[in-house]
Amino acid sequence: GQCATVCPVGAITERPDFRKVLEEIDRHEKVLIVQTAPAVRVALGEEFGEEPGTITTGKMVAALRRLGFDYVFDTNFAADLTILEEGSELLDRVKNGGNFPMFTSCCPGWVNLMEKLYPEYTKNLSSAKSPHEMLGALAKTYFAERIGKKPEDIFVVSIMPCTAKKDEATREQLKVKGVDGVDVVLTTRELGKLIKMKKIPYESLPEEEYDKPLGISTGAAAIFGTTGGVMEAALRTAYEIYTGKELPRVEFEDVRGFTGVKEAVVNLGDREIKVAVAHGGSNVINLVEKLRSGEAYYDFIEIMACPGGCIGGGGQPKSNKPGYLERRMEAIYAIDEMSTIRKSHENPAVLKLYEEYLGQPLSHLSHELLHTHYKDRKESTLERKKELEKVE
Ligand code: SF4
Repeated sequence: GQCATVCPVGAITERPDFRKVLEEIDRHEKVLIVQTAPAVRVALGEEFGEEPGTITTGKMVAALRRLGFDYVFDTNFAADLTILEEGSELLDRVKNGGNFPMFTSCCPGWVNLMEKLYPEYTKNLSSAKSPHEMLGALAKTYFAERIGKKPEDIFVVSIMPCTAKKDEATREQLKVKGVDGVDVVLTTRELGKLIKMKKIPYESLPEEEYDKPLGISTGAAAIFGTTGGVMEAALRTAYEIYTGKELPRVEFEDVRGFTGVKEAVVNLGDREIKVAVAHGGSNVINLVEKLRSGEAYYDFIEIMACPGGCIGGGGQPKSNKPGYLERRMEAIYAIDEMSTIRKSHENPAVLKLYEEYLGQPLSHLSHELLHTHYKDRKESTLERKKELEKVE
């Protein structure tokens, strides 16, 4: 808003996350790495007067370089990687038996809710870390080794549409080689303020590209930013890996759109899988309650705590423009359509990562770096009630 451009910046610099990032940039002793979530690029422009749904990926990358980051990577790279790990986990459960329904795990709003309200389901959650945590882990190991650095020489900032990611990044069980995978999370709005504070002329910046190799991604990764996107990306890959056939059509329309709970049945040849997608707190609670009572059954469920998914995240620019969420969503699907590669298992940088480092999905090293576990954090009945009220 206007305040950020005209106010003295004292109030902003007082914020601990801001301060940490500014200090690291000023000191510049570590290798400074930044990554951006799929939903940021379709909303950041709004901080600079653009219409909702304007795609500003290239300018955003350019701004991050001018802020002083050494490498600008893309959380979308790790979204593709998530699909390989999580998709393989799903197929492993299908073939060898495992806990169903399987839930996606990339939304910390949902993970927190589950640990607190439904800890009996933690075993059903995919063990895959969320994409930005995967990227953080790889930045401090795989990439660090390539540039001759140690994990502690690297500082990773994630630009996220999400306030829950801040707390996620402090989880003990996400540490890699003794350090946090991600050091600081800034929201889309905070990045907007930072760019203004540093007087970077966003509007006139050239379009720049992400750095390689952790900046290469597919259309399947782009759609992680909206409700239904993780499911669709997973289905594109799971279908082709399981059946060995090419998908006649990559779009799964049934899981798109704003309906609170969406459903689809996917034919894998010798087996059908039933999937569901829920977004927004009360839809999520309704769905989980139906699962618990036995009223509903699905094999695989995508859950996002925010309405619309991450495009509607708590860290996104505030908007009162009509249809702003729809327009951000359209932009997300447009990025997918414009992509030359639209399936995660065809991302050449991800394939190379497996070839030269991880081995294969769910390998020992993949487990060490890219997977996590959850905790039963169930609270007293009273606290549980309070938590439920917050959701409603
Ligand atoms: Fe964060 Fe909301 Fe996206 Fe969940 S849906 S990851 S809480 S922005």
